[in-house]
Amino acid sequence: MAWALPMPNCAPLVTRFAPSPNGPLHLGHALSAIVAHDLAKASGGRFLLRIEDIDGPRSRPELADEFRRDLEWLGLEWDEVPAQSTRLASYAAAAKRLKARGLIYPCTCTRKQIEEAGAVEGCDGLIYPGTCRHAPPDPALPAAWRLDAAKALADTGPLVWEDDLAGPRSVDLSGLGDVVLVRKDLPASYHLAVTLDDAADDVTLVTRGADLLAASHVHRTLQALLGLPVPRWHHHGLLTDDTGQKLAKRRGSPALAERRQAGEDGRVLAQQLRLQHLRLGT
Ligand code: GLU
Repeated sequence: MAWALPMPNCAPLVTRFAPSPNGPLHLGHALSAIVAHDLAKASGGRFLLRIEDIDGPRSRPELADEFRRDLEWLGLEWDEVPAQSTRLASYAAAAKRLKARGLIYPCTCTRKQIEEAGAVEGCDGLIYPGTCRHAPPDPALPAAWRLDAAKALADTGPLVWEDDLAGPRSVDLSGLGDVVLVRKDLPASYHLAVTLDDAADDVTLVTRGADLLAASHVHRTLQALLGLPVPRWHHHGLLTDDTGQKLAKRRGSPALAERRQAGEDGRVLAQQLRLQHLRLGT
């Protein structure tokens, strides 16, 4: 049974769960999927599954079937939309438009070079210090392409976005800087791919953990630059372990597949997560 949030006069929502098959799903993923599922179903809308399988050598396509079994075990119902690996042409086309407008620039820096250039920590790792923006790199070297954040915001003007829980937000890229939009090895980064996909899939409520809240400033900017529809967001609270750290497989949070294979009842687990989530108040 899904929980019923009071949503008077709410149009049917389209939400999604977009796991990357880099490792098995754990409880945090289950919560994300359940929140997205229940919000969509309570509104009479659609819950989508999108496999984000473009993480190069880290991607293990065989895990996608495990993910589907996990969701079924939790008692969720979904419509599946095409995986990211089938959408590379649309990412390349969008990157080409951004390049033609001078809104992204090539960057050959390695992580080590970025650290050595004195980059400071932002909301999601180091803020790029702008080395290749100031001095264009050797075109013979493999390059990623970065958003020129200052140019982008001069182009869009002030932007706002709306989170169900955090409320209205003004776009501020200062905590992220010039993020990578096209990776050295792929026609897109997470930011570009997810923004294009959510638009292509007609997602109206982007539901994911609060650890990705800052990324939405970039996604809102890309929507404005590329003329894409603007959804609402719902960044839910994260489950934590006894030490207050975010649950993660590497810190011993058991994979859903292990629990499923051990004979646990997934629907009961889903109900427990719903209750825990209500207690979190997010
Ligand atoms: N593939 C991303 C992840 O697994 C999806 C994040 C999102 O929902 O935007 O973290």
